[in-house]
Amino acid sequence: INDLLDISRIEDGKGFELNRQPVDIIKCIHEIVDLFRDRSSKHRFRAYLPKKEIILLLDNDKILQVFENLLSNATKYSPDGGEIQIRGKVEDDQFKVSIKDQGIGMTPDQIERVYEKFYRADASNTAFEGTGLGMTIVKHIIEAHGGTVWAESEINKGTVFGIGLPLIKKGKQINN
Ligand code: ATP
Ligand code: MG
Repeated sequence: INDLLDISRIEDGKGFELNRQPVDIIKCIHEIVDLFRDRSSKHRFRAYLPKKEIILLLDNDKILQVFENLLSNATKYSPDGGEIQIRGKVEDDQFKVSIKDQGIGMTPDQIERVYEKFYRADASNTAFEGTGLGMTIVKHIIEAHGGTVWAESEINKGTVFGIGLPLIKKGKQINN
């Protein structure tokens, strides 16, 4: 229900203003990864992140929603378990995060449609519950932050989703 409300807000352009504040993205990722560690004993979560804090201007709740969607997909679509790697680094003018699973993967055709509203690669498979809105919302939230999303996948091997978020430009003041 919340996802549907988010989508309608995104589509009519109303109520999707970001409430951007300085957020330590490293701390934020550690917190959400720890949450999933507790939720899924089947998977090994490995986080490779910078040791220092990295402050970005983010809507904290919406960024949590992004990681919640990405990690829930990574676990849901790797039903046999395996390793889930979370990598983060500063590159060019972005902080880049990738989330890699060893799950069922997607074909090139499926990956091309993954951000479509209500798209589910295998809607007939009732083993995986969902409405097909998670990745639509992820893309909207990241792009609203001036960021980018990308994906790579191989069927029966696994999937990597990546996001890039803009760094705070030097000399720019933080005043909301
Ligand atoms: P929701 O997130 O709304 O509960 P969902 O997980 O089905 O439902 P999305 O998160 O938008 O929807 O993903 C769309 C489709 O893309 C999924 O149904 C699945 O087929 C495929 N998909 C997404 N992430 C992965 C992944 N990590 N591995 C394999 N397939 C994936
Ligand atoms: Mg999902």
